[in-house]
Amino acid sequence: MLTKLKAIWHYAMTSILADMSEEEIRWLLNSRWQVSLLEKRRTTVIVSRVRIVAALFALLTPLWIVVDIAAFPWDVWYPLVVARIAATIAFALIALRTRRMNSMSDAYRILGMMFLVPTAFFLFSYQHMAQFDLHGIQQAFSTGYAFLPFVMLAGLSIFPLTLLENIAFISPLFLMQAISGFLRLQVLDWPTFAASFWLMVLIAGVAVLAGMSQLAFIIVMVRESIRDRMTGCFSRQSGEELLDLQFNLVKRSGDSLSVAFIDLDHFKQVNDRFGHEAGDVVLATAAQSMHNHLRQGDMLIRWGGEEFLLIMPNTTADMACVALERLREKGLGTRPDGSPITASIGIAERLADDKDDWRTLIEQADKRMYEAKQSGRNRVVGCPCSVTIAPA
Ligand code: GH3
Ligand code: MG
Ligand code: MG
Repeated sequence: MLTKLKAIWHYAMTSILADMSEEEIRWLLNSRWQVSLLEKRRTTVIVSRVRIVAALFALLTPLWIVVDIAAFPWDVWYPLVVARIAATIAFALIALRTRRMNSMSDAYRILGMMFLVPTAFFLFSYQHMAQFDLHGIQQAFSTGYAFLPFVMLAGLSIFPLTLLENIAFISPLFLMQAISGFLRLQVLDWPTFAASFWLMVLIAGVAVLAGMSQLAFIIVMVRESIRDRMTGCFSRQSGEELLDLQFNLVKRSGDSLSVAFIDLDHFKQVNDRFGHEAGDVVLATAAQSMHNHLRQGDMLIRWGGEEFLLIMPNTTADMACVALERLREKGLGTRPDGSPITASIGIAERLADDKDDWRTLIEQADKRMYEAKQSGRNRVVGCPCSVTIAPA
């Protein structure tokens, strides 16, 4: 039964969202499986949008003070103005927060703070206004305050959030609406309350869909920009971001991190003898062979033309050496004339080579790759003596 339901879900989703893979569709629901580069882009987008909205509200909130003073008697407007000034300061602090934010938990925090300010303002102003018996234009203005939760719900649509995240941010707004109804329980006009609740549900639905479609757009954009089309490897730019992330992670945990610089041997001959297009096929074949032998967690980057960089987190130089010798033995495919494609490989490991940043670690691996070229090609250099395997 469950497998049937899963199959129906899979069919429905991949038919509707035809340009997304099943894994990417899962990313729309829950962020738990998302890749680090997507998280990083999403964090940047959310944080910058929160700042824009907070800056806008920091400018608009105090402007309404004039309206409050003009519309209400002083015992009504005075506490409202104090609350407005407090909200303005809070919005300005959020907009100008200087701390570097680069993880989704930072994004959740700043988004939560941004929603907390109008929520607190709404609860305060609503309770405050309920004490007065307002009529005419004053009543019209006081009703305007009740629209705040709707504005906040609609505002959620500009953030690329998953379904679960949307639910987490929307729930307090519904709770707030329920509390405001509860505060007026004796005088509550039930049909109006039910209608406004229903309107909230509709706006929430549209906002969630809008937010999720923004996320879908970012997922596709990240996918297109992080991978090199021809080889399926990470592109140089995203590779550098990955190196930055991975290096910081292992630095904190104290683990090892190996990198391998892989340069195909005599690749220019392939182009010269068989043409550029045949060269492209050979490149794609070599990348596929490497991908087939990667372990989970390893990342392959196309560093330049026929040069690749393999990142191996939590891998000592010994382990990296064994893995790359195995790859070299299995081969990287063949050229159009059937001769094997070979590569010269340089390995470096951050603890064994005592490197404090990824750029110098790669320089070390690059240097060893040149040593491999100079000593006859088709070999791995940088292995600790104990695991050196003679080149074939
Ligand atoms: P070595 O063994 O010393 O590394 O020799 P090599 O011929 O592999 O090295 P060299 O750096 O002289 O040449 C690399 C060649 O790779 C030159 C360039 O035309 C080719 N190349 C780079 N990118 C691509 C690509 O995307 N497609 C194709 N077909 N060729 C490419
Ligand atoms: Mg080269
Ligand atoms: Mg080469």
